[in-house]
Amino acid sequence: MTSRHIEGISIECVTGDIVDQPDMDAIVNAANAQLAPGGGVAGAIHRAAGPELARECAPLAPIRPGDAVITRGHDLPNAHVIHCLGPVYGVDEPADELLAACYRNALARAEETGLESVAFPSISTGAFGYPVEAAAGIAVGTVVDAAATLDTVRRVRFVLHSESDLGIYVRALEQWAFT
Ligand code: ADP
Repeated sequence: MTSRHIEGISIECVTGDIVDQPDMDAIVNAANAQLAPGGGVAGAIHRAAGPELARECAPLAPIRPGDAVITRGHDLPNAHVIHCLGPVYGVDEPADELLAACYRNALARAEETGLESVAFPSISTGAFGYPVEAAAGIAVGTVVDAAATLDTVRRVRFVLHSESDLGIYVRALEQWAFT
């Protein structure tokens, strides 16, 4: 685990499973537009949350790239799930701005709900094909940029599925000067 502090916010990078973060108020779903169960992160979250999550999601769909909506966590250990639709690389443009909007909007939903901690997966870098180096820079950079504006959120965790992705996110995090 690597962590840094900026503007009173702890930013962590770990390897693991997004559905196994019981100390976080919310986990973020790399959702599809229909907010339906699918593969990857969305499949894991819906399996762990149970069928009530899909029922709560249905009236909130569809969402657009960059959007984030919040639901309850149902059978997850987390009170909430924040569902983000990342850009499909090479299709949804401008990809960098849409990916940054996911992180900004997810943090906005967390703040509106008064949450203290949020765990993100690496949005768009699986089925949606976003190169992980570029995505990591945007993910970490957007959270760092938002840090000074956060009131309730005090901990942000990036949960990476592989050691190689962890290394890339840690390098992105280490580019920032922290106190
Ligand atoms: P997207 O459709 O936004 O690309 P994916 O779910 O396909 O989202 O993948 C996003 C990233 O999350 C990929 O790096 C993938 O390896 C990783 N991933 C898949 N399952 C999990 C999981 N259970 N926990 C954390 N990360 C996961």
